[in-house]
Amino acid sequence: MVVLGAGFGGLELATTVAAELGDDVELTLIDKSEGFVFGFSKLDVMFGRSRPEQVLHRYVDMVNPGVRFVSAEVTAIDPEAKRVETSAGQFEADVLVVALGADLHPEATPGLAGNEFYTVEGAFASAARLRDFPGGRVVVAVTSTPFKCPPAPSETALLAYEYLTARGRPCEITLVMPLGTPIPPSPDASAAVLAAFAERGITWVPERLVRGLDAERKVATLSDDTEIPYDLFLGVPVHRAPRAVANLTVDGWIPVNPLTLETAFPGVYAVGDVTSVGTPKAGVFAEGQAAVVAQRIIGKVRDAEYDGRGVCYLEFGGDRVAKVDVKFVAGQRPVGSLIGPSTDLAADKTAFGADRIRRWFGREWVTSGSSADS
Ligand SMILES: Cc1cc2nc3c(=O)[nH]c(=O)nc-3n(C[C@H](O)[C@H](O)[C@H](O)COP(=O)(O)OP(=O)(O)OC[C@H]3O[C@@H](n4cnc5c(N)ncnc54)[C@H](O)[C@@H]3O)c2cc1C
Repeated sequence: MVVLGAGFGGLELATTVAAELGDDVELTLIDKSEGFVFGFSKLDVMFGRSRPEQVLHRYVDMVNPGVRFVSAEVTAIDPEAKRVETSAGQFEADVLVVALGADLHPEATPGLAGNEFYTVEGAFASAARLRDFPGGRVVVAVTSTPFKCPPAPSETALLAYEYLTARGRPCEITLVMPLGTPIPPSPDASAAVLAAFAERGITWVPERLVRGLDAERKVATLSDDTEIPYDLFLGVPVHRAPRAVANLTVDGWIPVNPLTLETAFPGVYAVGDVTSVGTPKAGVFAEGQAAVVAQRIIGKVRDAEYDGRGVCYLEFGGDRVAKVDVKFVAGQRPVGSLIGPSTDLAADKTAFGADRIRRWFGREWVTSGSSADS
């Protein structure tokens, strides 16, 4: 069995299958990166709560004897033959799982390079941009759809407000989003987020995107041709499926059976951000899909079906975190309920990350107590 991509989906899948089948499966996990970084850890680094080395889980440190990890770039996939071309040679599989996520393209938006916080490099560099920012106009903005973790820009606006005001730096924050409400499936969560924006004077600009930045004039142009001035820009770049999956995509992403996650090619599955399964692009959904594929491969629950459910954490600042329990079922309106925010749920979120690192990497992960920017 070959799993492409050791992110949220690939790690969950490889760990579960290896734990259940042991020596009965020859499992190869391929990834081109140095290690795994949780999406939410990018915000922790940006806002000085963690240092980069604390949130990078290196694949060389992965203790999982049942998984053969190969550090390589996947360049092409032949889904009929279940054959993969990589920078480390060719791999053939009986079962192939594509979990390569979404690539980010800051260069696709004029002026965005150096002004985004979604790539690992961009998020880590934004820690220094925030640290050195004396205060002023901050614009948090999305440049295209779909984009990962739809709550993340709202969290970023709230955390930027907390970070800057705690340091005595005056700020005016604007959030530009393509959505009509911050968390569309959950009216309760959206109302709580909009109330938090109102309390902090954060300007909410819905149903618009940023098309480009003029770095000299320091203005962003929106999809309705209006302009917004900024002193600090925190942008979400264009997302695209990795080029290597071109043989599997339709309209840019990999279509799958929404219940089984199988592609149009028997024995080839796809999970997570690389698919067009209909759930938001977020780790909790990638993990849930991987769990279903694992059960089907293991054969333990042959008729395991994906239910489209995910529980997302939402940072409000002040060490208060909420949970939104959402369900996306094909052909039905997505629904979601809000729990919190509270400080107890902040501890819950820390435990969520630690649990994954224990299962996936076989080690303890303690992040608290040493921030980058105290
Ligand atoms: C700021 C931010 C905050 C977020 N917060 C949350 C959150 O709180 N909760 C949540 O659930 N989600 C969150 N997310 C979203 C989450 O990070 C992603 O949706 C999730 O990681 C997707 O999982 P995946 O397995 O599909 O892909 P990924 O985790 O992105 O994994 C894909 C893997 O494939 C590898 N890869 C790609 N192309 C190739 C190639 N050609 N060859 C070899 N390897 C390749 C990559 O190196 C990567 O390791 C956040 C994202 C961001 C940016």
